[in-house]
Amino acid sequence: MTKPRLQNFINGAPLANDSGETIDVINPATGEVIYEIEVADDKVKTAAIESAKEGFKAWAGMTAMERSRILLKVVALLREKNDELAGYEVLDTGKPMQEANCVDVVTGADAIEFFANLAPTQVGQQQDLGGDFYYTRKEPLGICAGIGAWNYPIQIACWKSAPALAAGNVMIFKPSEETPRGAIELAKVYIEAGVPAGVFNVILGDGDVGQWLTNNPDIEKVSFTGEVGTGKKVMQASAATLKDVTMELGGKSPLIVFEDADVSQAVSAAMLGNFYTQGEVCTNCTRVFVHESQYKAFMKELVERTEQNIKAGDPMDLEVNFGAMISKKHQYLVMSYIEKGKAEGATLVTGGNTMTPAGAEGGYFVEPTIFTDCTDDMTIVKEEIFGPVMSVLTFKDEAEVVRRANDTSLGLAAGLMTKDITRAHRVIHQLEAGICWINTWGASPAEMPVGGYKLSGVGRENGIETLDHYTQTKSVYIGMVDLEAPF
Ligand code: NAD
Repeated sequence: MTKPRLQNFINGAPLANDSGETIDVINPATGEVIYEIEVADDKVKTAAIESAKEGFKAWAGMTAMERSRILLKVVALLREKNDELAGYEVLDTGKPMQEANCVDVVTGADAIEFFANLAPTQVGQQQDLGGDFYYTRKEPLGICAGIGAWNYPIQIACWKSAPALAAGNVMIFKPSEETPRGAIELAKVYIEAGVPAGVFNVILGDGDVGQWLTNNPDIEKVSFTGEVGTGKKVMQASAATLKDVTMELGGKSPLIVFEDADVSQAVSAAMLGNFYTQGEVCTNCTRVFVHESQYKAFMKELVERTEQNIKAGDPMDLEVNFGAMISKKHQYLVMSYIEKGKAEGATLVTGGNTMTPAGAEGGYFVEPTIFTDCTDDMTIVKEEIFGPVMSVLTFKDEAEVVRRANDTSLGLAAGLMTKDITRAHRVIHQLEAGICWINTWGASPAEMPVGGYKLSGVGRENGIETLDHYTQTKSVYIGMVDLEAPF
């Protein structure tokens, strides 16, 4: 049987490559190839740049109100197609439909709505200089590149393109080669809503295609989501042509459960922050610090709920709340971390195996896994695993836990559970992380800027400030009197 094939999406339509090179895309919940993508070759890459240049002329030439109106149509279409698009995300990522149908497209559309509404509020300044005066214009940067990870494909494509397009830029987006469909579907929606051709092009391929984007002198900015190591390469390549960069990278985030916390709420936060999207979330609280007075009660409820309430299986089944790892390779990587945890002396309390749930026997599942007796120097406590592996640690006092929570080169997220309002803010202000939660975990609305401290990132996504990162200020000085020259 011939495989369905997805082509690069350039200038408002699919564009065939000449090289014939393809990559298979696998449904992680079945292990089956579901389609193949054509890798962008020289013809496609050249067309992507040429069409982006034309798209930029049309898009940047519109008023912000005109752009906003079109983007709001994109939002309406995304919401209309929510379940269809969520279904594609499930097939590509292996995540449960019960998440995808209320988070992935929804939060993507929210970001486009937020920036569409913000676009017309962007204004320059004017200042009188005693006769002469100057004014400033907020101008778009030009062609921006977006490079996405595989865990939230359509959401990442929306979060990157929303502020870029709202500010009048165009974007060439490269999705992860493991989950490319969402970006292609988004590109079609942009066209259907009336966004001019060339404003959002999608090029397909692996890291080599990503590298071509970061090296390309016609591209002004790169917004990247992925691993720290890849982020460093992207930033280094971008430096050659002094591109602006936004980096959304990995994390090893702490959740602190104080002695006065509500145990059930703390367990909910720990489970959401380790097992949602089967643990493949960058902000996950993979280091759970529990006050020693709460430890017994916390562990009892945590293990009970993990063993009873998590249901793996065919992710399309709305009862299933736990999906498959993105690939066989990733499943192996997660399992190798679990082996390291055991070898380094952590106690495996539950999980720790691969799974073959009924209805998804060929999938790359890993059981929700909890380790206790963890120490700060263990590999599972130090390195990002990006799977359903929770390390529980205990602590005695506030100063100690703040020091230990910050003892990492990463700084994406942090959170705490307490009823003590002053302690909540005192501790949060000391935690070295860009996204913090008090008595909750994981919410990331479009209004709130998100991004990492330390090696977890550069710049922010979402929130008002992000729009500024997609504009440059032009200052215009106006002489009102005759120019005096000493020559
Ligand atoms: P990855 O770094 O392997 O790949 C990310 C993207 O970069 C892919 O599209 C890939 O093809 C491309 N790429 C690879 N090499 C490249 C190169 N040299 N130049 C340009 N592009 C290149 O990451 P992944 O495995 O897809 O995603 C998982 C990682 O993403 C985790 O570390 C996770 O924490 C992180 N992540 C971060 C956030 C955030 O917002 N901070 C969100 C989601 C995921």
